[in-house]
Amino acid sequence: MFCPNDKAMLKPVNGVLTCPKCGYTKQAVAGQNVVRSKAVEDVHKSVMDDSAQKVSLLPTTNEYQCEKCGNHLAYYYMRQTRSADEATTRFLECTKCGHKWREYR
Ligand SMILES: [Zn+2]
Ligand SMILES: [Zn+2]
Repeated sequence: MFCPNDKAMLKPVNGVLTCPKCGYTKQAVAGQNVVRSKAVEDVHKSVMDDSAQKVSLLPTTNEYQCEKCGNHLAYYYMRQTRSADEATTRFLECTKCGHKWREYR
């Protein structure tokens, strides 16, 4: 906490953060908390935007239908399962509701 006037460090005086240089007091503690949680929200938002962008880079297929919302478009990606003799499994994710499933052969 620093004074906006002279950048001196604020010291608590009777429970109120006070600037020892100019006497500025920090009153809006509750307001400060709101601002802080909004900043955290923004960070979460930008992280979500980031992952959404990654997902949209995946190829899509209309061979399947989402069992949750009936959407016919799904992202898909291949992944090798643990044992090497097993076929590569195709994973699918609904473009609409985000429901994920895998294709069983
Ligand atoms: Zn000050
Ligand atoms: Zn769906």
